[in-house]
Amino acid sequence: MLVLGAGMAGLVAAHELTKLGHDVTVLEARTRPGGRVHTLREPFSDGLYAEAGAARIPDDHDLTHKYVKEFALPLEPFYPSRLHALRFDRGSREEVPIDGFTEAMEGHFGYDLGGNPERWQKIKGGADLLPKAFAERLGNKIRYGSPVVRIEQDEKQARVVFLKAGRKETMTADNVLCTIPFSLLRDVELPALSSQKRDLIKKTHYDAVSRVYLQTRNRVWEDKGLNGFAFTNGPIEIWQPSWSQPGPRGILMTYARPGEAERITKLKENERVATTLKQLDDMFGGLRESFERGATKCWMEDEWSRGAWAFVGFGNLATALAREGRIHFAGEHLSQWPSWMQGALSTGLRAVKEIDEFVKV
Ligand SMILES: Cc1cc2nc3c(=O)[nH]c(=O)nc-3n(C[C@H](O)[C@H](O)[C@H](O)COP(=O)(O)OP(=O)(O)OC[C@H]3O[C@@H](n4cnc5c(N)ncnc54)[C@H](O)[C@@H]3O)c2cc1C
Repeated sequence: MLVLGAGMAGLVAAHELTKLGHDVTVLEARTRPGGRVHTLREPFSDGLYAEAGAARIPDDHDLTHKYVKEFALPLEPFYPSRLHALRFDRGSREEVPIDGFTEAMEGHFGYDLGGNPERWQKIKGGADLLPKAFAERLGNKIRYGSPVVRIEQDEKQARVVFLKAGRKETMTADNVLCTIPFSLLRDVELPALSSQKRDLIKKTHYDAVSRVYLQTRNRVWEDKGLNGFAFTNGPIEIWQPSWSQPGPRGILMTYARPGEAERITKLKENERVATTLKQLDDMFGGLRESFERGATKCWMEDEWSRGAWAFVGFGNLATALAREGRIHFAGEHLSQWPSWMQGALSTGLRAVKEIDEFVKV
């Protein structure tokens, strides 16, 4: 059994298939597990960290909670209850309790991103502890630095061609589970797939997201009674991921969605940091004097994601998910919870059931 991709979809499938007694190998292009679950520890000081991808877990994401619990990972509140957040979306600058922030989120994006602040949690120590826990159990079943370039099959078996140190290698298997995002799968040779599936792979649109991080010597915003969270009148959230981490240094970060993220992605790294420093200095004051270093993450330019998230659309879901011979599919983009770990996990588990039943026939 070959699983392609060691993101949440591939990891949960490999984990559960192994438990069911399948002999699993995972091929992963990157040199780490987790895909879009990635915690940035560099270039920050004093052990501070911030999330490049998945960060928030709502109380109703039962699958995410199930695996957090299975691996005994500690959770903590996502939002601080102390001090005030800023809101700019009602025409003027307002200082509000943190539920004013989630209220703004709900108004803009719906309940999926709003509700009571207490329903939101994060993994203490970084979201990447979750994929790392899966990967630790899978051990050397995961082959890193192995980008897949071709998937083919006949009546007897499936074959996957991948690169190892630039040279082509081939592995065969009874079944292949492909969790490669469509933004990258469109560059893989897929002679065995139907034209409908190939069309969908080609045309599925991925959204841009960009994040800019500023490390400061002190949490200067706290002196003004602010907790470092803000909601602008554009599609931008501002977080202080360090509020639950030891000080005195802090990190403020911007989280821009489509509409703004593309503009930021086009800038050079130093321009992204410089414009964000100005923007946040205007909001919070005193940041420039305390600023130490910046970092950025733009998902459109991530070599192995080429976008933040996607949804094939309800009308296309059945075609996109359908097994083609020995080739099965999973991943966030094929779920009813796109852009969530819960979505990736649910499609991974769906594929486990499909594969286990297929093998038994
Ligand atoms: C900015 C951002 C914010 C998010 N916020 C949240 C959040 O707050 N809460 C939450 O629950 N979720 C959040 N998510 C969503 C969550 O991170 C994803 O839905 C989930 O991690 C996707 O998992 P996946 O396995 O489907 O895909 P991926 O994580 O992309 O995994 C696919 C894997 O395939 C590998 N790969 C690609 N091409 C090849 C190839 N040719 N050969 C071999 N391997 C290949 C990739 O390297 C990757 O490891 C966020 C995502 C982003 C980007």
